[in-house]
Amino acid sequence: MKTIGLLGGMSWESTAEYYRLLNELTRERLGGLHSSRCVLYSVDFAEIERLQTEGRWDVAAEILAQAAKALEAAGADLLLICTNTMHKVADEVAAAVSVPLLHLADTTASAVRAQGLRRVGLLGTAFTMEQDFYRGRLTARGLDVLVPDGPGRRAVHQVIYEELCVGIVREESRRAYQAIIQDLVAAGAEGIVLGCTEIELLISEDDSPVPVFPTTRLHAEAAVALALTDDAM
Ligand code: GLU
Repeated sequence: MKTIGLLGGMSWESTAEYYRLLNELTRERLGGLHSSRCVLYSVDFAEIERLQTEGRWDVAAEILAQAAKALEAAGADLLLICTNTMHKVADEVAAAVSVPLLHLADTTASAVRAQGLRRVGLLGTAFTMEQDFYRGRLTARGLDVLVPDGPGRRAVHQVIYEELCVGIVREESRRAYQAIIQDLVAAGAEGIVLGCTEIELLISEDDSPVPVFPTTRLHAEAAVALALTDDAM
């Protein structure tokens, strides 16, 4: 079994889901008392969030690159950045280590294509919905990406940072997300990418008339599949 390295804490609410999913999926695959061999480097999210809002991505990249090196030194055979947003600095993180980085946009795009879908609505932070580092990677893998309108994007972003990242799950926010999903479906979305690792704490398949793509679960599934490839057990 390979050792999975997690760059987490962004926020820890979703990193806890990663840890649970990696262990559950490993037990499903191997049975018994098997669990995921993994190493976690969990950052102080307040520091990262401040750098995001100040646009100091170079400093954030350096922090995550150093953390990635620490994970490699601790024995990680592959790395996950446990947030869609911080894939903005995925190239810098990947360049700092010699082990592979399993890119979240790639695992997401593969899951969408595997269901035979092409046009998706993307929910995430404003950085993820509005900038090219994530959308562009989905588009390059053959997807058409729709995002909510301005007020919709602001609402989605605000719920992530003010509620989900601090452990608050509100019914009112679920209804707001459902309405935004309806609008994306009306605009032609055949599936909805939950492109922020906390959104699946709020939204499930039941909240959408079209398939949803929970990026945390999909990332964890891909990581476990890779960790167990060529496993001698
Ligand atoms: N976990 C979130 C994501 O997947 C947002 C937190 C962050 O800014 O990293 O994008």
